[in-house]
Amino acid sequence: MEIKNIAKGGRIRPIIRMGNPLLTKISDDIEPESKETMSIIKDMAATIIDIGQIAGLAAPQIGYLKKIIYYQVVASRGDSYNPEGVKPVFLINPTYKSAGAEKIVKWEACLSIPGLTAKVERFLSIHLKATGWDGKSFYDIDKIIHGYEARVLQHEIDHLQGILYVLKRISPSSLSYIEALET
Ligand SMILES: [Zn+2]
Repeated sequence: MEIKNIAKGGRIRPIIRMGNPLLTKISDDIEPESKETMSIIKDMAATIIDIGQIAGLAAPQIGYLKKIIYYQVVASRGDSYNPEGVKPVFLINPTYKSAGAEKIVKWEACLSIPGLTAKVERFLSIHLKATGWDGKSFYDIDKIIHGYEARVLQHEIDHLQGILYVLKRISPSSLSYIEALET
């Protein structure tokens, strides 16, 4: 299902920025097949459409301390973002563990920290467990995910633990304005 259909009845919510204590709190589990879950997902979808193309969003970023994240499935394999052929997926109560010792360092950014970026070390591969929702049905997810997709998931699931990527940056001095790096 397309995200615009999911967003019907949802409200565009402001993105909460770093400094707001909500972003440092641990979110609660939520019953997947519930009115509350659907209501939050609709608001997330409406907000995502309003923002435009994004890799992911966590419910606390729009003020709900519940374990729901959105991310876009990358259609092609590999580590680069491919805007073609992406499929929106909502995950309820997601958790991850490392699946292998290998870690990689890449630049990350976050809607809650606009304009900034920093280098963050993440697991190359993770073991993801969650309840998925694709706009039609709920399904159990228990699988190994690699590369870019694994990085987005680690970033978003960290939000549910009250952790922003800047706390995980590899060195204090890697925090930069995106604009300054591009000049
Ligand atoms: Zn973020």
